[in-house]
Amino acid sequence: MGSALDNQRLRAFSIAYVVLSLVLVATTYQLSLRAGLDRLTRSGKVVVEQSADRLIAQLESYRELTDLMARHPQISALIEGRSTSARTSEFLLRISLITGAKEVHTLDSAGRVLASSAFEDHPQVIGTDWSDRPDVIAAKTRRMGVFHSADRNGQRSYYFARSVLRDDGSPQGYVVVKVNMDELEAEWRIDETVVTFFDAAGVGFVSNRLGLALRRDETLERVPPATFNYPERVLSPLPGYTLVTTGGKTLWQFQSETEMPNRALVTSQDIPLIEMTARAFVDARPALSQARLLAALAAALLSLFGLAYAVFVQSRARLADQLRLEAEANSQLEARVAKRNTQLQQAQDNLVQASKLTALGQMSAGISHELNQPIAAIQNYAANAKKLIERGREPEASENLTLISEQTQRMARIIHNLRGFSRKETEPLERVNVASVLNASIGLAAQRAKSEGISLKVDAAPEVWVDAGQVRLQQVIVNLFSNAMDAMTDSPRKEITVSLSQRRDQVQLVVSDTGPGLSDIGRAFEPFYTTKEIGASKGLGLGLSISYGIIGSFGGLLSVENLDGGGAAFTITLPALSTQEAAQ
Ligand code: ADP
Repeated sequence: MGSALDNQRLRAFSIAYVVLSLVLVATTYQLSLRAGLDRLTRSGKVVVEQSADRLIAQLESYRELTDLMARHPQISALIEGRSTSARTSEFLLRISLITGAKEVHTLDSAGRVLASSAFEDHPQVIGTDWSDRPDVIAAKTRRMGVFHSADRNGQRSYYFARSVLRDDGSPQGYVVVKVNMDELEAEWRIDETVVTFFDAAGVGFVSNRLGLALRRDETLERVPPATFNYPERVLSPLPGYTLVTTGGKTLWQFQSETEMPNRALVTSQDIPLIEMTARAFVDARPALSQARLLAALAAALLSLFGLAYAVFVQSRARLADQLRLEAEANSQLEARVAKRNTQLQQAQDNLVQASKLTALGQMSAGISHELNQPIAAIQNYAANAKKLIERGREPEASENLTLISEQTQRMARIIHNLRGFSRKETEPLERVNVASVLNASIGLAAQRAKSEGISLKVDAAPEVWVDAGQVRLQQVIVNLFSNAMDAMTDSPRKEITVSLSQRRDQVQLVVSDTGPGLSDIGRAFEPFYTTKEIGASKGLGLGLSISYGIIGSFGGLLSVENLDGGGAAFTITLPALSTQEAAQ
């Protein structure tokens, strides 16, 4: 019953523990992921800012170059007709080689190319009309004109245009510097984090991953791509991705074979100076794997703790089982011992009865003699009484009748004692006066003693109270008497001395004789130890062992010693009842 309840409680506890552990593990994962992604967001912002600074600085150097060239005397000399196109083109080629600009051109006030660093590769460029180019148009207003675009081969270029001013401040021509983005990006390739700058048309114009150049993100498109003269066929969409929300952030999940991280945390920032949006695609894996690691650690710890607790509970249960089994075994043992005790008690009761009958057999001769005497006397008194009545001497006859009555009383007493002795006694203990039990026992033994010439010396206190069984106590005393008488059969001096006394809380009854004493005193109380001939009316070897048990059951002790002058002395010691107890 209790263990079923325990099991139920244990199961409920286990389920609660597992649920709690799952919640804890999930919470650990979430918190760690959030913290990790926050960290990555911050580092993404830093990467974006650094990349934007770098790009701006790189473009700035070409802007300054354009500015410088617009004020260079060689350029104004050409525009004003003081130098040749060939010489200026040579000069421009040198400048482009030194500065790393892809091309440098000089235009006249109408926007036609007068000289170009590309005169060798593309001689036809001289004389072409560039007046409708957005950067040149912008330069007419004396501002720095900027433009970016890609050619049919997907070659991306950034253009700066600046007007060359006359002394009165009006434009007399233009300088155009073309920068090749591939070359600009060359040193970016080693960046760990993917960064791409998208222009107003949503086209990835600058990137540290070649594969992302000229990829379109339509969500960023504010003007049509035609604004930047992109040939249609060089543009392509971003690698396919799906958005997943985790740890409070939206991640871009790319197909694995692209250059993009599998799961990217995207940080965007508008860079107004170059009219582009910078985007960092930060790899979210470190945050994810850290969160997973921490969650696994938490799970492992919780499992370990759970396991330890389970082992503890198990061993406690096993211990309880063991104790229960031991307790069961103990109670079985106790039950067996109790049963065996009852059996022993029964056996002892039967033996007591058997030995009593043996004693009765031994005493029967004496008893019948004892009874015969009063019967003979009664017969005499009765015959005499009859004669006296016939003779009219009635007063004398009446005396005889009184004598008869006395004799019958004596017989009644003998029979009463005998009945008591042979009764099987199992009653509980009661208050018993040892003196009267002693008297009754002497009454039973007296006849035999007399017939065997044994003298009985009795020195007994009149009232000595103990807790005992009257009949059993009498049986013990009678047994001591008959053993003493047996022992003295061949003794020249035949004397039994009985003393009954109380010393404080102990009662002592000593029965001593003048026989030979015990030949093997150590075995006297051993069951079936006898030196007498075995037989119904002789020795059984049980008398003393049973007597020992009986006195023990009263809380007392039966002991024996051989007397110095020969003979044995048996002592019954019993706890005395106080006078108050005795009076109850
Ligand atoms: P049983 O009388 O049937 O032999 P008991 O147990 O009464 O059995 O006595 C055991 C033995 O102890 C006797 O056989 C006898 O040898 C010895 N014994 C008992 N009482 C006396 C005694 N008063 N004097 C000498 N020996 C005794």
